[in-house]
Amino acid sequence: MILHTISELKEYIKNWKKKGLIIGLVPTMGALHEGHKSLIEKSVGQCDKTVVSVFVNPIQFCPGEDLEKYPRTLEADNELCENIGADVVFAPSPREMYGEETILSNDFLTYVIPPYFYVNKLCGKSRVGHFDGVCTVVNKLFNIVQPDYAFFGQKDAQQLIIIKKMVKDLNIPVEIVSCPIVRESSGLALSSRNKYLKDEEKDSALALSKILFNIKACYAKGITDIEALKETAYPYLNETHNLEYLEFLDAETLKEKVIADNNTRVFIAVKIGDVRLIDNITLGVR
Ligand code: AMP
Repeated sequence: MILHTISELKEYIKNWKKKGLIIGLVPTMGALHEGHKSLIEKSVGQCDKTVVSVFVNPIQFCPGEDLEKYPRTLEADNELCENIGADVVFAPSPREMYGEETILSNDFLTYVIPPYFYVNKLCGKSRVGHFDGVCTVVNKLFNIVQPDYAFFGQKDAQQLIIIKKMVKDLNIPVEIVSCPIVRESSGLALSSRNKYLKDEEKDSALALSKILFNIKACYAKGITDIEALKETAYPYLNETHNLEYLEFLDAETLKEKVIADNNTRVFIAVKIGDVRLIDNITLGVR
């Protein structure tokens, strides 16, 4: 069932709360794939009621990014959600979420701004303001849905860490559930943006997971020097790849690592043509 308005959704939430039901929220931007599906399945398995939000959040896109061309497939998304057993697809318009004034100008919106330490790196460096938009919309969704659990993918590990920090700092009464990355059999991490890749670019895109798997294998063999591990990436890169970052950070705190260890997460972002892809892997067993 698709609901477009906050007031309609709130009616359902009120009834569910009255009955003491456990509510799960899966925030997405739609164009749902197996990665999203794994989050929704987890919520349906763990909660009495599951809300999947489908909202291409304009305030998390930077100027020049793909807001207009971002894939929108609401009917198919709803079908997928219904097949898994989700109860509601919440698909508000930007106007419904932010109101008339905010559509006209961001100057009228109260933002949730995550700490500089967490955003001044990885995707936050090139996507200035992105995580302000993410935290603001996720906070709004938490207030609307009042979920007991909210499900996020490790595919966007920086986002997951920032949201956990926001929940802790603002005492938001929700438990964040971290879900593993779902990949194609080729290793490519599933992403709605993979739709943009032309056939030959899809081959190029395999470099990200190959680099990460190889770094993990090298670490397992005993290499802990981060410069040496970074060096192993270059043979996988060619003129089709524009490497934005390859970083080794603490998996919980995003502090820079001097020596790789089991708590290290390796983050990579590469541009292939116009398509910006991200991936990451933990060096520990998780
Ligand atoms: P998005 O629609 O891209 O904003 O993603 C919505 C949620 O799905 C986020 O928590 C993502 O981390 C998660 N997600 C996206 N792709 C994957 C994937 N391949 N595996 C696991 N989770 C994913």
